[in-house]
Amino acid sequence: MTRDEIVSWLICDDPSPLYQRADAVRKEFCGDAIHKRAIIEFSNCCERDCHYCGIRRGNFGLTRYRMEDSQIFAAAQAAAALGYRTLVLQSGEDRYDATDRICFLIRNIKKMTNCAITLCVGERTGEEYRAMREAGADRYLLKFETSDRDLFRALRPGSSYDERINCLRRLRELDYQVGSGCMVGLPGQTPETLADDILLMKEFDFDMIGIGPFIPHPDTPLQNSSGGSLEMTLRMIALARIVTRNAHLPATTAIGSIHPQGRQMALRCGANVIMPNFTPQEFRAHYQIYPNKICINDRPADCAVCVDGMIRSLGRTVATDPGHSLKRGGRGIAQTACKSGEGSYNKRKAG
Ligand code: SF4
Repeated sequence: MTRDEIVSWLICDDPSPLYQRADAVRKEFCGDAIHKRAIIEFSNCCERDCHYCGIRRGNFGLTRYRMEDSQIFAAAQAAAALGYRTLVLQSGEDRYDATDRICFLIRNIKKMTNCAITLCVGERTGEEYRAMREAGADRYLLKFETSDRDLFRALRPGSSYDERINCLRRLRELDYQVGSGCMVGLPGQTPETLADDILLMKEFDFDMIGIGPFIPHPDTPLQNSSGGSLEMTLRMIALARIVTRNAHLPATTAIGSIHPQGRQMALRCGANVIMPNFTPQEFRAHYQIYPNKICINDRPADCAVCVDGMIRSLGRTVATDPGHSLKRGGRGIAQTACKSGEGSYNKRKAG
């Protein structure tokens, strides 16, 4: 698809043909199984001050927490006991959670469970990424948020777009399965800049892509913004599916937070992943990147039952494998490849 074609789908009156095409592409390249990833939000402390984010450093009204190792291990084991094969360890960008500690968490969770581990702990150095990969991390999620450099600079003070892109390249070189993505509905975003986001996804050929609506948080500088719409977010998910074919695409919690059927709709127009929250109840309400997040008062076990029911109600099946990348023959399976140097992204790309 060209940029103009993408823009025309973003502004057309009737996107239903786009959704049908995306669903057919999903079925052909990913099948009917939906992968479940258990998210554990182990700290809401962050040193950055992104204008769109409720856990930004400047939000002094928020109760901050860092889960203890034992609490993280218990959450991981609970998810594994319920059949989850992927754990997503997520936090703000917090140097307190030094790489040594994250490596310790990864090694121990790998011993305790048979789960793949996705990290979502922000921008780090190449050496830190290497250490975490060698400790056993399989995947890394780092959204580019927007491909519009000016918008990125305005919304993420002290952060560099080029450095973010460099981080994504470093992760690739270290043979992580790399996830990225964007927000929809940021102030100043246009159909053209959203089309550029889709083209960036295609260029990078990410293994996973998260696309969610921007939801303004009342305690941030963007509190009076209008936020992203359900329809534009669905169009972006459908376009991402069509251009990337077999990337894993989650039906995000954010889309479920702006519409009660948002996740189901996303799963019908290209998404093939769902990410239930396994953060212990006592911490959940404090991981407020955006307000009115769904499932804040539910127990993890309840979310698991709810999500399985949702999947079956759509006529789809629950995947029982770890749901590694579908790209390049499932490169995430090569857990030891990083250490041996075999099968690296660059080598495989060259081949
Ligand atoms: S978006 Fe990420 S880096 Fe920015 S303030 Fe929120 S948690 Fe921190």
